[in-house]
Amino acid sequence: MSEAAPKPEELVQINYDPPRRDWRNAHVDYRKGTFCYSAAAKNLRYLDLPNPRDWQPFDKNWKLPPNWREIILQGMKERLQKFRSFRLFMDICVRCGACADKCHFFLGSADPKNMPVLRAELFRSVYRRYFTLSGRIFRGLAGGRELTEDVLKEWFYYFYQCTECRRCSVFCPFGIDTAEITMMVRELLNLVGVNTNWVLEPAANCFRTGNHLGIQPHGFKDSIDFAVDELEEITGIRVEAPINRKGAEILFVVPSADYFGTPHYYTLLGYLMLFHEIGLDYTFSAYASEGGNFGLFSSHEMMKRLNAKIYAEAKRLGVKWILGGECGHMWRVVHQYMDTLNGPADFLEEPVSPITGTHFENARATRMVHICEFTADLIHNHKLKLDPRRNDHWKLTYHDSCNPARAMGLLEEPRYILRNVSNQFYEMPENTIREQTFCCGSGAGLGTDENIEMRLRGGLPRANAVKYVRDKHGVNLLTCICAIDKATLPTALEYWTPGVEVGGIHELVGNALVMKGEQERTTDLRGEPLHQKEAAVHA
Ligand code: SF4
Ligand code: SF4
Repeated sequence: MSEAAPKPEELVQINYDPPRRDWRNAHVDYRKGTFCYSAAAKNLRYLDLPNPRDWQPFDKNWKLPPNWREIILQGMKERLQKFRSFRLFMDICVRCGACADKCHFFLGSADPKNMPVLRAELFRSVYRRYFTLSGRIFRGLAGGRELTEDVLKEWFYYFYQCTECRRCSVFCPFGIDTAEITMMVRELLNLVGVNTNWVLEPAANCFRTGNHLGIQPHGFKDSIDFAVDELEEITGIRVEAPINRKGAEILFVVPSADYFGTPHYYTLLGYLMLFHEIGLDYTFSAYASEGGNFGLFSSHEMMKRLNAKIYAEAKRLGVKWILGGECGHMWRVVHQYMDTLNGPADFLEEPVSPITGTHFENARATRMVHICEFTADLIHNHKLKLDPRRNDHWKLTYHDSCNPARAMGLLEEPRYILRNVSNQFYEMPENTIREQTFCCGSGAGLGTDENIEMRLRGGLPRANAVKYVRDKHGVNLLTCICAIDKATLPTALEYWTPGVEVGGIHELVGNALVMKGEQERTTDLRGEPLHQKEAAVHA
């Protein structure tokens, strides 16, 4: 845990009294633990982005280009013409306040500038000043603000305290999506070289090697081979895990954390077992070795560039369609932007399960199916032999990861799978799940150690709901289907709700899956010993 994180009993003292300071005062105190470090110049150079240099947010001089204001205003003008939603979101907010208390960062920090309505107003006030008639004439009297260096620094602070989770948009009567406003501001900041390393380093790595971690093809193969060896020890079965196999029916894409981090890795083991058991004709790609897309957190252009590799690999390998693993923002990009940015993917076929014959009509445009849709369909059609007692050491709940839940409506399939692979599943309170799910507090590139205080503050509402089911039902596992959740929720839970671990759904599928010819299981996929009665249930 970072030294910058106060103790939970201190951090939970949150004072919601409004501050006396006028909100238009843009000065920001860049306090340790509440912001992310700037992007290293080498990463900007690699991505061909403007103004690479050494600087940090706590420096007085950000070394902006001399004409930075003109660049931003010109950028706004161009985007107001290009994105109709952008202009709409600038114009239609009536400040009703329905979104005000819906953001986890406001709930965890009580900073009014973390209310979605005020976060947007930090930007909207500049829009009003320069792009509306009343603002140009009456300026401050019409709610306009000058674009000063302090305002730019304030944007950087607060638009990197938004995880683009879209919870606020669920409650807005006009459907204003503050996440899209955040995306637009970050895109503008990028024009003058104001960006964070935690976003741009993964993007640069992805550009170079195909994945966020910068793992090269042989490293990718080593990781997959290691998983195959380990599975043989657990099950006695040697599975195949093809990479770059031309002519396979399906390209399978996962977030890189699945083959390089825990608890993600156990999810990978589950996929490999499942595919072996049903005899799936698939391949990984050593270049499309990352589903995640940090372009979503920097600019539309970056998002497009990174997403393109998945479809380029599908074309090169000659597959029919794409299956995607447990990832968050990969699915946001694919479902909300891919078709406009990189589509249409009409060189692929409409996905059909080779095992059940189910047509995934919902994936007709993207030609990409979520692993939970795929597995739920297998279970529904009785194609898997499952013994949920092998997961009896877990009392579990399900965290709807923001992007699969709100961006693609994947609400029932994960629950359907969980109810079939486990016996003890408990829901968190209704206003914290499904479309209203609370963010982990570390998405959209905020999951850095230097930002630990804000991460913990943002993670408080989620952890509080987990605490409810831990205390009421003895829940000891939080399941989720997003790589960022799996990476960051363990820290938030250890801090706020100790005693609850984090895991993926396909880890539990792998535990419960009764494979033909398997040896008696003595451990689960984490290597933890199974109780005698659980180990003895295999076919
Ligand atoms: S998108 Fe999420 S993080 Fe951003 S303002 Fe809305 S609720 Fe807060
Ligand atoms: S709910 Fe919508 S209209 Fe109301 S203040 Fe929030 S963004 Fe504006």
